[in-house]
Amino acid sequence: MEINKDTAALYDGIDDETKADALSGLYSVVYCPVCGQKTLDNYYICRRCGWEYDYSVENRFSTANRATLRNYRKRYLQATKRGEEGNV
Ligand SMILES: [Zn+2]
Repeated sequence: MEINKDTAALYDGIDDETKADALSGLYSVVYCPVCGQKTLDNYYICRRCGWEYDYSVENRFSTANRATLRNYRKRYLQATKRGEEGNV
């Protein structure tokens, strides 16, 4: 499959596995609301921070993530500061 310039830019900064899933056509590329890295929508789990993209709003408890988006991000940032990225 030939990838044009726009498509290449879309997948810029995405790891190979996520990119392969993106190319399946089941997902769209979005920015993770927790860590800001590109991830996929449709309940995809961010490979950097582990947040499941479940269309949560800031202060509503997310069952899938067992936290609100705000609290999860807070914990992620604290873990990152301690050098424990990915262990939220
Ligand atoms: Zn993330």
